[in-house]
Amino acid sequence: MASYIGVDIGTTSTKTIIYSENAEILGTATEYYPLITDRPDKAEENPDTIFQAVLTSIKKVVLQINPKDHPIKAVSFSVQQHSLMAVDKNGEPLTNILTWADNRSEKIVANLKKQHPEFAKTLFQRTGVPTHPMAPIFKLVWLRETTPEIFKKTAYWLGIKEYIFYKLFNRYITDYSVASSTGFLNLNDLDWDEEATKFAGISPAQLPKLTSSTDFITGINPEYAKQMGLPEDIKFVLGASDGVLSNIGVGATEEGTLAVTIGTSAAIRSLVDKPLIDEKGRVYCYPILPNKKWIVGGPINNGGVIFRWVRDYLFNDLNKEKMENDPYDFLTDLASTVPAGANGLLFLPYFEGERAPIWDANARGTFFGLTESHTRADMVRAVLEGIIFNIYSVMLTMREVTGEPKTIMATGGFSRSKVWCQMMADIFETPVNVPVAFESGTLAAMFLAKMALGEAKDLSEINQYIGKVTTYTPNPNNFARYRAMMKIFINVTRDLSDDFSSIADFQREFLN
Ligand code: ADP
Repeated sequence: MASYIGVDIGTTSTKTIIYSENAEILGTATEYYPLITDRPDKAEENPDTIFQAVLTSIKKVVLQINPKDHPIKAVSFSVQQHSLMAVDKNGEPLTNILTWADNRSEKIVANLKKQHPEFAKTLFQRTGVPTHPMAPIFKLVWLRETTPEIFKKTAYWLGIKEYIFYKLFNRYITDYSVASSTGFLNLNDLDWDEEATKFAGISPAQLPKLTSSTDFITGINPEYAKQMGLPEDIKFVLGASDGVLSNIGVGATEEGTLAVTIGTSAAIRSLVDKPLIDEKGRVYCYPILPNKKWIVGGPINNGGVIFRWVRDYLFNDLNKEKMENDPYDFLTDLASTVPAGANGLLFLPYFEGERAPIWDANARGTFFGLTESHTRADMVRAVLEGIIFNIYSVMLTMREVTGEPKTIMATGGFSRSKVWCQMMADIFETPVNVPVAFESGTLAAMFLAKMALGEAKDLSEINQYIGKVTTYTPNPNNFARYRAMMKIFINVTRDLSDDFSSIADFQREFLN
């Protein structure tokens, strides 16, 4: 029986899984790498370290099978979005990878929005990428302004996957989903956008060649094929960005199904059958399969990272034994002792500033409504609810663009908690489905390989590989309280907008 390799190039590690034809896992490997962040707004990675991680992890999974029993048909990719690097005319890196989390282009973005709001809007409408430092287009302008000597020497601008494909195949090539998250791809004609490249001061010829996620290439450098234990005629499928693939990997492939992920950060996304642009630029829209599928979604900074803060700072001194064994279970159990609405305690989770829906890097967290009767149990419940209220507020924006979701597929660390999943069902007033844990990114990458080889036709066919799901049904008894709290959540967020800037200014001036 044949096998397929799915490679997921994430921000902290590359996870690689080798699958059988029926999507059974035959072997796995994970290679970690460091994030280079010697100042708070910098988040770089070494492209050659990641290239080595890809080679090593593939080699490790190949060693876990017998290629005679499981001949390897293809390797396919899931990759972190929004990465950018510069290479010279010989393909040598001139910079590290600037990851999505690198915020050093923040001033460029703020100035553009303030001084040329109309142009910022035009760019968004042409490319579907919100005006935010996460986007490679703004990172590129920042590099041009801060390191003109590098800018002059740059022959090509790439993301991490494009660099890896260049190393292996000596070709500059990318897929539409990764291309669209750069801010350079025109949503309508699916080519590099002239206005966007002109704004950045580059030529479209300096960007990789565009192709579909389900295209493959051959002609790998035989040295590297040997190193990984792959045949020389191996097919490398382009694959797609991790955001897109996490939707496909949980079977959220049709309009009306919303995928919600809460890991360290959070995201909501829906696949749609035509480009749908939010007039106000609050959610993105990227093409996936050309002329067939687009993805609309909102990236959210404040997910499980806030719950981790609760664990480490609010409860680190409490019930040592339980906190050491299963801290999150202990804390969610505690939250379940408090009724919906946390006895009138509201929490805004904006510790890390926020992207969708408010796009405000200065936003900060708040407990609102505290009285002397509130306990730590109320606080932990308010935090869990606040994280979901924030995600729900992105859904309210998305709903204007995509319509009401009928089903939710939920993934990420939060889905281990029944209490938290039930809260989501009650706040969204929609059933929440949680598939049994698996690596949705690599599974979806492997599925794209099947499509590339003509073994599957439609994205929805992936459902046969997705295991059992647990469904949480909304509890109408909680609707009234949550609706009331949600209204206050939105109002307080709006009311605090100016004060967010003041407190952020204070923090910049007086804290180091
Ligand atoms: P990553 O973002 O690195 O992919 P995960 O998807 O594993 O990480 O999510 C980690 C987050 O999930 C943690 O910060 C925590 O908030 C949450 N989490 C993990 N385990 C549980 C649990 N048992 N109950 C509730 N939340 C959990």
